[in-house]
Amino acid sequence: MPSQVFFGSARQARLDACETLPAKLDLIIDQLHIRDRVKGETVAIKMHTGHTLSYSTVHPVFVRKLVKAVKDGGGKPFVTDVSWDIRAAEERGYSPDVLGCPVYPTAGIDEKYYYEHERPFKNIKVWKVAGMIEDATFLLNLAHVKGHPVCGFGAAFKNLALGCVVGETRGAIHDTMHFDPYWFADKCPAADDVKRVMEACPFGALVEDKHHPGDLHMHFEQCNQCGRCLQAAPPGSLKIDPVNFYAFQEACAYSVAVSLGTFAPGKATHISLATHMTPVCDCFGFTSMPIMADAGVFGSDDIVAIDQAVLDATCNFPLLEENLPTVMEVHTREGHPFRQLHGPYKDPYLVTQYGEQLGLGSRQYELVDVLPVAQFARPSVTYIPAN
Ligand code: SF4
Repeated sequence: MPSQVFFGSARQARLDACETLPAKLDLIIDQLHIRDRVKGETVAIKMHTGHTLSYSTVHPVFVRKLVKAVKDGGGKPFVTDVSWDIRAAEERGYSPDVLGCPVYPTAGIDEKYYYEHERPFKNIKVWKVAGMIEDATFLLNLAHVKGHPVCGFGAAFKNLALGCVVGETRGAIHDTMHFDPYWFADKCPAADDVKRVMEACPFGALVEDKHHPGDLHMHFEQCNQCGRCLQAAPPGSLKIDPVNFYAFQEACAYSVAVSLGTFAPGKATHISLATHMTPVCDCFGFTSMPIMADAGVFGSDDIVAIDQAVLDATCNFPLLEENLPTVMEVHTREGHPFRQLHGPYKDPYLVTQYGEQLGLGSRQYELVDVLPVAQFARPSVTYIPAN
C-alpha cells in the first residue's frame, strides 16, 4: 500500500486566514494524529534554525503550532538543532519564549554528547548520533525545503542526515565524496599542467590539496559538472565521476537509517515546508532570493515518500533565473530545477532511491490535499470604455 503524504498548497482561493499555510499545517497535524501519539513522550522537534542572517527557515509561527499540538497531547517538546546554529538562534526568533518550549543543541554546546553506532560505509566506520536526539522518545522532523550545493536539495532527509549527528560525522559524510579517487597525479606530473587544470574551473572548485602539496583537491559543492576542466586535464588524470557525487546522497540515507533507527516504530513523523526555496542550504548564514514558486506544506510518517512528494510537486516549476546569484550558471535544462541549478550528478531524487533501498520508506505515495484550492468559473470580461 502506498504511503500517505498530506499536502497543503501554498495557493489560496480566497483571502482568508483559514486557507493560509499555518492553517493548513493545523490540518496536517490533525491528519498525522500528532496529539494522540505523543502522550508522555519526550519529543525532539528537529529543525534547521538557520545561521547568522538566515530568515527563510521555518518561521516560528509554524514551530509554535507544532509545540502547542505536542503539549496539548501531553508530550514534552523541545526544539533542537546543531550547536553551531543554536548559538544565536534567538536572534532569528527561535527562543523558548516565542516557541513555547526549550531550545537545545542536539549534542551539547561542544558536541560532546553522543552515542556511537557501528555501520561501515566508505570512510565512515562509526556514526555519532547526537545525545538529545537519541534520548528523545518521539521525533518530529521539521524541515525547510531548499537547494543544496552538494546534493541538489535539502529537505526531510537532509535535516536528519546532517542534523542528528555530531560535527565529526557531518565532516565524514562530506568526505565520502573523496573516498573514490578522482585525481591521478601520475598522469599529470608537470606542476604547470596541474595549475592549468585548476585554473580551467571558473567556479574555484579545483584547488591545491593542502595535505598533499602539488596534488589537486576538488570542492564538490562548487562543481556543476560543466566539464571545462576535463578539456584542460591530460588524458586519464581527472575524473568527474557520478560515484563521487552520489556518495554524499547515499551517506545521507545511511545517516538517516542510523538516527531514525534509534526510535521505536511509529515514533517519528516528518513535516516539510516548501517555501522561499533558496539556491543553497540554510547554514550559509544568509538568505538568497527564492529560485522557484512556493509549493506548500507536506506531512508524512514516511521520510522517503515526503521527499519524493516534495520533488514531484516542484519538478515542473520554472527555475526563476532572474533570482539566481550571477556567480551561478545553469548549463542543463533537464530534470528537476534543483538539478538544473547544481548539475546532472546532483540529482535531488537520488536520496529517495537510496532511502528506499535501505528500507526507510516508499517512493510510491498517495498525495492527500488537506484543503484543495477552489477554482472559480467567471463569465468573460466585458470591455468598459473609458468615457
Ligand atoms: S566540471 Fe566544471 S565546475 Fe566542475 S570542477 Fe570541472 S570546471 Fe569546475
